[in-house]
Amino acid sequence: MRCAQCDKEYPSKYYFKTETLCLDCYNRMDSEARKQAIRRDLMKHPMTSTTFTIEGYRITRQLGVVRGITVRSRSIFGTIGGALQTLVGGNIPLFTELCEKTREEAFEIMAEHAEQIGANAIVGVRYDTTELMDGVTEVLCYGTAVMVEPLA
Ligand SMILES: [Zn+2]
Repeated sequence: MRCAQCDKEYPSKYYFKTETLCLDCYNRMDSEARKQAIRRDLMKHPMTSTTFTIEGYRITRQLGVVRGITVRSRSIFGTIGGALQTLVGGNIPLFTELCEKTREEAFEIMAEHAEQIGANAIVGVRYDTTELMDGVTEVLCYGTAVMVEPLA
């Protein structure tokens, strides 16, 4: 597996401090960066799961629904680029990328909100996308903020 920071390839999870960071990189970080890295990994876990449980953890407190909203309008450049790519056919990478970015932002806002109220995980994460008007899209990301602790 590969470290997200230094891009070095390691033979096993044994060389890793978190899901994505190798021990070397982790040891080089200051305490604030370490906290953020661990939080990012913890947040990533429930993000990929839309269920209301997190494997290996027990939910100790429910802190309520948290959400993040982003509104994105396609730039002129993006629209022209996208239209040109449509001519090529198939999947439209420029639009796909725009959607991904917008989703990520909505998720980040939700995660910040969860952290502010003392959560260390979010379960039941959902995305909702609405086309507000031509070329203007709203992405809503929401879930239930919880406190979890590792199962003994
Ligand atoms: Zn590394």
